[in-house]
Amino acid sequence: MTESVEAAHEGCASGDARLLHDGILRRQSARESAARTYARALPIVPVRARGLTIEGADGRRYLDCLSGAGTLALGHNHPVVLEAVRGVLDSGAPLLALDLATPVKDAFVTELFRTLPPGLGERARVQFCGPAGTDAVEAAFKLVRAATGRTGIMAFAGAYHGMTDGALAASGHAPDVRVTRLPYPQDYRCPFGVGGPRGAELASRWAESVLDDPKSGVPLPAGMILEPVQGEGGVLPAPDAWMRRIRQLTEERSVPLIADEVQTGVGRTGAFWAVDHSGVTPDVMVLSKAIGGSLPLAVVVYRDDLDVWPPGAHAGTFRGNQLAMAAGTATLAYVRENRLAERAATLGARMLSRLRELSSQHPCVGDVRGRGLMLGLELVDPEAGAGAGTAAGAGAEANADTGAGAVPEGGSGMGAETTGPGEASAPGDGTARPIALSADHGRRPPPAAPEIAAAVQRECLRRGLIVELGGRHASVVRLLPPLTLTDEQSAAVLDRLADAVETVARSDTGRGGGRSRLPGRQLPPTGCPDGAG
Ligand code: PMP
Repeated sequence: MTESVEAAHEGCASGDARLLHDGILRRQSARESAARTYARALPIVPVRARGLTIEGADGRRYLDCLSGAGTLALGHNHPVVLEAVRGVLDSGAPLLALDLATPVKDAFVTELFRTLPPGLGERARVQFCGPAGTDAVEAAFKLVRAATGRTGIMAFAGAYHGMTDGALAASGHAPDVRVTRLPYPQDYRCPFGVGGPRGAELASRWAESVLDDPKSGVPLPAGMILEPVQGEGGVLPAPDAWMRRIRQLTEERSVPLIADEVQTGVGRTGAFWAVDHSGVTPDVMVLSKAIGGSLPLAVVVYRDDLDVWPPGAHAGTFRGNQLAMAAGTATLAYVRENRLAERAATLGARMLSRLRELSSQHPCVGDVRGRGLMLGLELVDPEAGAGAGTAAGAGAEANADTGAGAVPEGGSGMGAETTGPGEASAPGDGTARPIALSADHGRRPPPAAPEIAAAVQRECLRRGLIVELGGRHASVVRLLPPLTLTDEQSAAVLDRLADAVETVARSDTGRGGGRSRLPGRQLPPTGCPDGAG
């Protein structure tokens, strides 16, 4: 299968292929669980894949910006990954080795440790986990509880850490007395109604107050877990200055800081690890997805002085997947050697500015944000207008005339490029400006519009583009393309997305009722008249 952008448009099902495709989908919905997720919104049957491209059983080709929920740093079936996997298969090495030492594992740990943030790599220990991110999150909680003798965990609103009990609780889905939730900084829907660096400063002050107030009702926790960019929470990059402040707060109080880099790791955000943007070195890192090079692998990496839990404190049969370790070593080395994190930063910034154009043209695109190749568009109901949603940030106010394109001072999503809490807001003499809450009062972004986001996802699929939905209200269209994305491919992705948004914006779903800020454009041909969407 050759990969080209043109090829992704082509391919119509022969009668037989269509029958096969439809039959598989029919059997899936008859036999698989009601809890299935991606399969509902993406009725495709992948049979071949290479790089950015997936080919379905119906012969259609798709540009895959879901990338296994952000797993595929090198896209599908990258030659270095295939070579590494074949190398293990041909060598006669055991495929499963529990937690025994093997040359394949030794090479993986060496490559992993050389990438770690300064101060951690030299003193790191690694625990291999059951091969899902959520299991590594559970292990991290056990680790810090054992190391501190404390039980509580602090986590952030909007977080996603997985589907097992402790990880779910930290994600806010299951009430757990041991988890305390703190506000995560965000501009567009800032919980404090100010956004930008001031919003981030208030978020860190809240954390400080909960930690220090003896009457806060929250004992000192065993650890604090955060995502440097919230992914499932709606593509929300934490400002670097906020990250540094949180690091300082936790360090001063001997609270281990756990960075969940399951989704942000291995170059995705434009740095090898997303914590590298801020220079923060966490005590613990939870890693999965890209580190397995598309095969299941999850680890916790932590500083050696925390390594006081007893043998067997965390275990699991499938901790020794040699194919995943080999694929992971090849992926980590390829990203490092080819400077793909830098490439993600450059290309991501370019894509973000094109997405901002889109948001200025369509009122239903309320906000665009992201870091590196982790990008999102928040779809809103423009008819509901400002005032009906949750608290708005400065960005909403700046764009109140258009109701779109909220990119506040401080950078929606790219806040990391700005000065942080207490810096940008200071007038220069070191005194903080009073927060103009009254000016923002009542100025709120329009409500999230999950049905518009779902319509955009469907229109993207009709055009041969796979995107993910996320965010608190499933109203954020997410792009997680491979870091190997070419300029030509990125243009094709954005063209298809723009066409999809325009179609939805002009429809009743997008509240456009046929209106748009752009003159109507001819839609490109879809892969098939009866396309999957
Ligand atoms: N943490 C983060 C930040 C994630 O994005 C995810 C998965 N989306 C997880 C943990 C859980 O990983 P898994 O689905 O492999 O359990």
